[in-house]
Amino acid sequence: TPEYDLIIIGGGPIGMACALEAQLNELNYLVIEKGALVNSIFNYPLYMTFFSTAERLEIGNVPFTCIAPKPGRQEALEYYRNIQKHFSLNINLFENVISVNKQKPGYFVVHTSKGWYNAKNVVIATGFYDIPIYIDVPGEKLPKVRHYYKEAHEYAFQKVVVVGANNSSVDAALECWRKGADVTMVIRKDQINDRVKYWVKPDIENRIAEGSIKAYFYSSITEIREKEVDIFTTDGTITIENDFVLALTGYRPDIDFLRASGINVSEGLTCTPQYNPDTMETNVPGLYLAGVVCGGMETHKWFIENSRVHASMILADIISK
Ligand code: FAD
Repeated sequence: TPEYDLIIIGGGPIGMACALEAQLNELNYLVIEKGALVNSIFNYPLYMTFFSTAERLEIGNVPFTCIAPKPGRQEALEYYRNIQKHFSLNINLFENVISVNKQKPGYFVVHTSKGWYNAKNVVIATGFYDIPIYIDVPGEKLPKVRHYYKEAHEYAFQKVVVVGANNSSVDAALECWRKGADVTMVIRKDQINDRVKYWVKPDIENRIAEGSIKAYFYSSITEIREKEVDIFTTDGTITIENDFVLALTGYRPDIDFLRASGINVSEGLTCTPQYNPDTMETNVPGLYLAGVVCGGMETHKWFIENSRVHASMILADIISK
């Protein structure tokens, strides 16, 4: 018989929520996380503020106290670490899952960087923050091009191009400008994205309107060189001086991993994985999806506050069987 009732891949907020639910139901479970606890949040920009209020990031009915209206990265790390200290969830950190294979009904083999495990059920809660969506232009591999933004200091007194008009790009553009960078935004559409945090959107729009931050709308980068970038704009292609490019054009789940696990994924741009929305079980019986990974390329669909419930849905289905 398999050694575990349930293996949960990914120790993000939703993987932890599944573990709490499994512990409550006295299942023999294991979480396998390739990095640190809540590794995605650990890799967020240092001074990011969540769009969610603290209570909407709570898991396991444990209160998340926060004095400001919205918590930041550090407080979230504190909160999820405290959950782990209190509940001692069974989590292996710094262990990467390479593959999941169903050998026979009720018997999965999970292969990791450190060994092999078997389980009756598996939850994939691997998020979307590990693979950037590349802009695919010459020069993108130069070290001055970044797909993750940490903090503004190194960009101060430098000419920085920020690609994109979503939360990550807007936060980075504002922070860098405030710390003394010369910031130019390159934006594919005609405006700042509507999903930008409601209290940040007027700030960026006003900085652009007053000319503090330059913005090219309906535009895209076509080539990056050591000291310049080319931008295709409505007035044709222009070349500007440049020191750094922050290409914050989004991230995507590991679709190949889902397919290799046997999950049907829709063709086309959305790459939606197949699962039953009442139970979160995929087309592979006993294999479940939880959290942001469920949306495929539509990574804005699921977030912490609306996917926490996946944990109780999945565990209810496992228990009922
Ligand atoms: P993740 O938190 O991404 O966790 C997945 C985990 O799986 C990671 O720790 C990863 O290391 C691990 N993993 C991946 N592959 C493997 C593997 N092969 N083997 C082992 N482990 C693996 N959501 C909100 O609800 N509110 C917000 O305010 C908010 N703000 C955000 C701000 C930023 C800058 C970003 C990038 C996202 C934000 N989100 C927010 C979305 C948020 O990231 C997700 O809602 C949340 O992290 C989803 O949790 P998750 O557990 O599904 O995925």
